[in-house]
Amino acid sequence: MRLTPGKLFILYKWLFTKQHTTAAIDITHRCNLKCVHCYWWKEDHPPELNDREMITFMKGLRAKGLRAAILYGGEPTLRPEICRMAGRIFDATLAFTNVTNGFPELENGQWILSLDGPRDMNDRIRGKGVYDLAVDNLVEASLPPIVHMTITRLNQDRIEDFVKEMMGLPIKGLGFSFYTPDRGSNDTGLFIPLEERNRLAIRIVSLRKRYGEKIGFTRAMARQFLSHGDFIKWNSLSTCPVGKIVRCFKSNGQPKACTYGDNADCSRCGCTAVAAYRGAFHPFDYMTLRVILGLMVPEYQVSGGPVK
Ligand code: SF4
Ligand code: SF4
Repeated sequence: MRLTPGKLFILYKWLFTKQHTTAAIDITHRCNLKCVHCYWWKEDHPPELNDREMITFMKGLRAKGLRAAILYGGEPTLRPEICRMAGRIFDATLAFTNVTNGFPELENGQWILSLDGPRDMNDRIRGKGVYDLAVDNLVEASLPPIVHMTITRLNQDRIEDFVKEMMGLPIKGLGFSFYTPDRGSNDTGLFIPLEERNRLAIRIVSLRKRYGEKIGFTRAMARQFLSHGDFIKWNSLSTCPVGKIVRCFKSNGQPKACTYGDNADCSRCGCTAVAAYRGAFHPFDYMTLRVILGLMVPEYQVSGGPVK
């Protein structure tokens, strides 16, 4: 496993300091899809930095001590040169993609591919033909990607179907977030009320027991989502660890409150990154640390068997 000094230093900071380590950057405001649950294409965005400006911006963030980067959009693969440079500038890079454009070079970085259910459900949410295109690109990837599902009211009953399907593909792992609505919105067609979400979180942990560690959702992560568990300890802008360790930026380089946007409703947040960070370190949990290592180290493989 290639845990470089830079990555070790990031882990050290997460464990022992409260300093910012990570830049979450919308490297583009463009996207080639219009997924039904996505806030992105429903909002206006400022013009994005051009390649030269974006590369200078990323180098500036690295010089300020932000050693890790998470690339968002829009669709990051629409800017392959920025992906390539981010992999070189930062010590650890994660990049989310709908993978309809394949995987650009991302040196020492990990791709996370968004799919939201088996073919019929995914294409209902992401558009006709997207599932097959994504899976074709997935099997061609030089290193297996992590697949990520956003759970909404639409696909909440298809989680196990999806898990079974993904376990037959060459993926590194499968992660889950819950849909996070905007403040004041009444997204009853998408948002899953917290009490119902509790049951789903526990259900996913039982899937991990059956299908193994590739299901990157541990008991400690589930606890972060439980409305009677740890959720109330972090579900506000002032208590969420994102604000403490991650600095989020729009595609014009201006700061924003959260990767989900300035209006995201923290009291109904379903962000799995927070669950993984808190699950691994508050208190320390080795199984969740392994999920984080899988995100940070492209070559790191989790075992496939059932979890005891
Ligand atoms: S691919 Fe991502 S950014 Fe594009 S519409 Fe879908 S969820 Fe939004
Ligand atoms: S929406 Fe979630 S991830 Fe974003 S700041 Fe609020 S609690 Fe944190």
